[in-house]
Amino acid sequence: MLYTSTRQKLEHITATQAILQGISNEGGLFVPSTMPKIDFDLGELSKWSYQEIAYRIMHLFFDEIKDEDLKYCIEHAYDEKFDTQEIAPLVHTKTGNFLELFHGPTIAFKDMALSILPYLMLTSKRYNGEEKDIVILTATSGDTGKAALEGFANVDGTKIIVFFPQDGVSDVQKQQMVTTEGANTFVVGVKGNFDDCQTTVKEIFGNKEFAEEIAKKNYKFSSANSINIGRLIPQVAYYFASYGKMVRDGKLKVGEVMNVVVPTGNFGNILASYYAKQMGLPIGKLICASNSNKVLFDFFKSGTYDRNREFFLTESPSMDILISSNLERLLYHISGEDTNIVNDLMTSLKKDGKYTITDEMRKNLQDFYGGYADDEMTKGYIKKVFDEEGYLMDTHTAVAYAVYDQYIKETQDETPTVIVSTASPYKFTHSVMTAVDKKYDGISDFELLDHMQNLLQGDLPKAMDHIATREILHNTVCNVNEMKDMVSKFLV
Ligand SMILES: *Cc1c(COP(=O)(O)O)cnc(C)c1O
Repeated sequence: MLYTSTRQKLEHITATQAILQGISNEGGLFVPSTMPKIDFDLGELSKWSYQEIAYRIMHLFFDEIKDEDLKYCIEHAYDEKFDTQEIAPLVHTKTGNFLELFHGPTIAFKDMALSILPYLMLTSKRYNGEEKDIVILTATSGDTGKAALEGFANVDGTKIIVFFPQDGVSDVQKQQMVTTEGANTFVVGVKGNFDDCQTTVKEIFGNKEFAEEIAKKNYKFSSANSINIGRLIPQVAYYFASYGKMVRDGKLKVGEVMNVVVPTGNFGNILASYYAKQMGLPIGKLICASNSNKVLFDFFKSGTYDRNREFFLTESPSMDILISSNLERLLYHISGEDTNIVNDLMTSLKKDGKYTITDEMRKNLQDFYGGYADDEMTKGYIKKVFDEEGYLMDTHTAVAYAVYDQYIKETQDETPTVIVSTASPYKFTHSVMTAVDKKYDGISDFELLDHMQNLLQGDLPKAMDHIATREILHNTVCNVNEMKDMVSKFLV
């Protein structure tokens, strides 16, 4: 299995090279040169552990990695760091089947990929005889940052630098990041929004002189953002796992089709479901849920992607994104792997902030349905589902639920559906608690943790234990145009 780029035909890139490098030299994203098909019976999925499913999926994409090495990565990633042996449990309520991807160390779905990426990265380093230290450079809308820090802190041979929008993440998210221990970690607040952070990080990646400069100091950049194929592929596994659980729980018969609803920002999670479908998992509709930054909704409706619009800070901050990086991979696939088309579209995105796909390409988008929900609707659904079904959704999951409800009303499609639940409500206490009852307004995020625990009568997740009183270890703030200098300063 070899990898190529969305912007140029490449012939010799192996999985481990793609993982090490993060992004292709000409700025494209790595994609598998052919989509592997599953080589097992779907009926097996309900019997296998999460780790077994992860292995069955990942070895198809990463066949270069020896079985024993891949199994080592998987066993060390999906272990007691997760608060349930199931790793990704499926919870049924009266109206929803929630795939809970938030049982890892930072209680958001980024843990699913970022707990394994450091192992894949070290394996890749070894396979390629790479002796330089790997510098993970990451822009985060809140959740990636902490999950990457958690994964890479104190990993020998790596350093990690995280940039987050200073005023664009929740108090809890920020506190989680700035209290990270580990001598190899560096966390910086940026006076700008997530797109500013992401664009600048991409520019730093693309800066060849800078790469040479740091190479002299024995460093090499890589990425923990979902543009790294080493993040995308592990995410494919949980769609297979959820199918097995739908069968196990009598919601589906083996071979029947299910839909998925995915709360979407950078388009990584939903792209993983698209890959699962291409590999042979019977998925019908891929329902893409956005918040008020509904650039994807408009794209699916009109075929035009246009980022020239007002940017909203919403109560689902991890989805406050106007440039969904992974969409480039979808464009590559739906254009019949035409790198010229992708180049043209990406050039107009850079130049004009927008592009329009061809009618041919639009035909290949028929499996997708786009919807969106604003904050008010989102909070309405948090309350409704909690009052009526006793299930407390976080704001991101609630965006997905809201769009799912619209979808059913619009289409009457009764296909069993998995709602991807991307964060624990404990991560967004203020938004969630005030949705349930306005009386919680005016109380700090941190105090609300206790109120939420009372409401749910369960244990506080380990990630939130004593969060308010942890020592702040990172307090650097910079402007967007100072980000590169920050990187230089850190890499002595
Ligand atoms: C990152 C994130 C998303 C968006 O996922 P993408 O893969 O970027 O589309 C949704 N919800 C939460 C809680 C997240 O952290």
